[in-house]
Amino acid sequence: MPMELPKEKVVVIMAPTASGKSRLSVEVASRYPSEIINSDKIQVYKGLDITTNKITLEEQLGVPHHLLGNIDSVIHPELSAAEFRSRASSIISEISGRGNLPIVVGGSNSFVYALLANEFNKDLNVFSESGAQVCSELRYNCCLIWIDVSLPVLDEYIKKRVDDMIDSGGLNELAKFHQYDMLHLEPNVGLTKSIGVPEFKEYVSRYGNEMPSSKGDQKQKDLYDKAVNLMKENTCKLAKAQMEKIKFLKQRGWDIKRLDATKSFMALLQGSKNWSTIWETQVLQPTLNIVNSLLEE
Ligand code: ATP
Repeated sequence: MPMELPKEKVVVIMAPTASGKSRLSVEVASRYPSEIINSDKIQVYKGLDITTNKITLEEQLGVPHHLLGNIDSVIHPELSAAEFRSRASSIISEISGRGNLPIVVGGSNSFVYALLANEFNKDLNVFSESGAQVCSELRYNCCLIWIDVSLPVLDEYIKKRVDDMIDSGGLNELAKFHQYDMLHLEPNVGLTKSIGVPEFKEYVSRYGNEMPSSKGDQKQKDLYDKAVNLMKENTCKLAKAQMEKIKFLKQRGWDIKRLDATKSFMALLQGSKNWSTIWETQVLQPTLNIVNSLLEE
């Protein structure tokens, strides 16, 4: 009988939007020869880097990132979970072949499920179809890490992050996207579903990238506030839905290790400088212990 090859080792960081997964992945990757594979279904596309909160080249600290911003949505409007499974598994083989550790990072649990499940049926969405069987046997030798943040705390952080995003060029990016890119893209698929695009459609079609001024037109100010609030609300809803999907997989037998980042987020929101020390103790160090155990097996 042919000998079965050992499964490839893969680190998977599963976490809702805004919970600090990019930072954690780069911290892990700077300690082991590793490469990162993005599994956020919107960040796979080229464009809207600020709106979709892609990790910047500077923040990547030289760690190779795959499936991050390299799919042209004009040529390939929507990457399916099945296509992600196939592309990401080839990338994992290449990374392992180079002797590096693959680290899968992202918020799209339908993509993570598609990639890791030993048996995957592309016609069944385990999260939305009642009765669909969750496959708890995984294709890789994984450690699954979940960064948890209590929702009220995460919501507060998300609201702050949306304000920062708009101020740091997000409005300009969204105005340009509506003015040029949307002309070549099918609505309601892929990148056009990105949070911020529908919410700002009306505002940018009337006012472009112009910020409302405190002494200016009240109508403009109201429309702007409406778009920002809707963006905050929809991002909070997304974080909650992503968190529920992680809990769902854990309940169905996936061995997901939960790390609680709530205290560090609270410290950050209170402007306390020691948030980083709390994060290192409560999130980074336990993650490194988990990764070490996987590598020592
Ligand atoms: P679903 O089954 O609903 O597609 P999913 O788990 O496959 O969920 P999610 O990552 O939860 O995928 O994304 C769902 C939706 O959330 C996207 O279609 C998009 O509207 C929004 N979204 C996800 N990631 C981002 C992002 N980085 N920036 C902006 N919007 C995003």
